Amino acid sequence: MAKVVIIGAGLTGISTAYHLEKNNFFDYQLFEKDQTVGGLCRSVIQDNFTFDYTGHLLHASDPYFRELIEQIVGMENLNIINRESFIYSHNTYTRYPFQANLYGLPAPVIAQCIEGFAQRPFSRHKPHSFHEWVLQNFGKGIAQHFFFPFQSKIFAYNIKKVSPTWMGRFVPNTTLTKLIEGSITDRSIGAIGYNANFVYPKQGGIQFWINKLANHLQNKIKTGYQAQEIDLKTKHVQFSDGHTESFEVLINTAPLDQFLNSLRGPQSVHSLRKASEKLLCNSVINFNLGIAREQLTTKHWIYFPEKQFPFYRIGFPHNFAQSAVPTGCSSLYGEFSYLKKSRKPIHTIVNEAQEATKQLFALSDKEIITQKVISIPHAYVIYDFWREKNLPRILQRLTDLGIHSVGRYGGWKYSSMQEAVLDGKNTATEILQKMRL
Ligand SMILES: Cc1cc2nc3c(=O)[nH]c(=O)nc-3n(C[C@H](O)[C@H](O)[C@H](O)COP(=O)(O)OP(=O)(O)OC[C@H]3O[C@@H](n4cnc5c(N)ncnc54)[C@H](O)[C@@H]3O)c2cc1C
Repeated sequence: MAKVVIIGAGLTGISTAYHLEKNNFFDYQLFEKDQTVGGLCRSVIQDNFTFDYTGHLLHASDPYFRELIEQIVGMENLNIINRESFIYSHNTYTRYPFQANLYGLPAPVIAQCIEGFAQRPFSRHKPHSFHEWVLQNFGKGIAQHFFFPFQSKIFAYNIKKVSPTWMGRFVPNTTLTKLIEGSITDRSIGAIGYNANFVYPKQGGIQFWINKLANHLQNKIKTGYQAQEIDLKTKHVQFSDGHTESFEVLINTAPLDQFLNSLRGPQSVHSLRKASEKLLCNSVINFNLGIAREQLTTKHWIYFPEKQFPFYRIGFPHNFAQSAVPTGCSSLYGEFSYLKKSRKPIHTIVNEAQEATKQLFALSDKEIITQKVISIPHAYVIYDFWREKNLPRILQRLTDLGIHSVGRYGGWKYSSMQEAVLDGKNTATEILQKMRL
């Protein structure tokens, strides 16, 4: 029996455990359903290529997070990299962010973007949807040539039904000056956006840093334990192998829809279980290629808004760390998403995506040394209006029941590794304060 039980040893769960221990609290158990820890921040090594569960780059805008990475991983083990990211549309590569870098696009497209921005509708009302937000902030041209197709592709959902609240710090703004300058000159405008630079482990992929953090824990993480049912009357977690664990405080970092479904107890829990059906999240398929060609590109990643490409992004791990590929090789990861059920069999889309990738980079079959497809069933939480209205109430009900549901999927939100670490830190502080009262 442990006072505090944590479900899920992804970054949020590990960070919670780390911050509990940092405060000299060891009366907890951390359970993970898989045999390896790290959740989405894992890496696989295949034929000497290191692939992440799709590209995972460390963007540290928070001083505490930055210091933690420095202290846990050590700067000598990290590459500090200035982003070289692009958008591919109209057969042209333009620099990210699109709304500041139109150079190279056909003249009518540039004219539509600038004209649309200058004539964007002014409104005193807060935009209702992401669709409206884009029109109000960037105008019709930028909306049609980038945001509408790109965001519809990545969410696999109607952006008129998505609230603008998902963005947080993720979408940089623009000005008319930036737009005009970025249309007549091909330049990298210093640090625009939250991901203008990033750090990445020199060895072992993104898993390197998660392992380092997990290795700091004194308590052993219990892997191979899948929480199946949560009995709220007796305050027990039942695991799929029959093991049970009682708790005073429960911290959940597993996907909220699955967690709500696992609740058992008073009649009132029924409505929470029902709510699980309403929570929307898409899935991502991540295909990886190991390639026998040196320096396929110097770019870090490329966004693809156009429908002709099944994927919304392709990135290049060989430019994050030399160790990601064998000498003389390159690698790439591509991502496409779907909601609930894919419109075609997944393997068909993977084939189409790989064919499109091969054409784009003029790759022959002979050059492809290895391939790895990774499925991410919970990828991007959809900020539909139901979520806006009901999520705060659901999370509050859980808190009242002594359950903290946190992290990207426990908290049902769009967030990065930085937030996962901070969520863990804040949760540890909050429950320690409550328990010490
Ligand atoms: C496509 C994509 C790209 C991303 N790229 C970046 C990036 O470049 N930079 C960045 O900072 N962030 C990125 N992120 C976000 C980042 O992955 C997350 O913020 C972070 O990994 C979330 O950690 P977590 O612990 O909250 O969730 P998870 O990593 O999902 O961890 C949850 C853990 O719970 C376990 N679990 C689930 N159910 C149970 C159960 N019933 N019992 C026991 N254990 C269970 C899972 O196995 C998992 O280990 C990206 C996310 C996606 C989807």
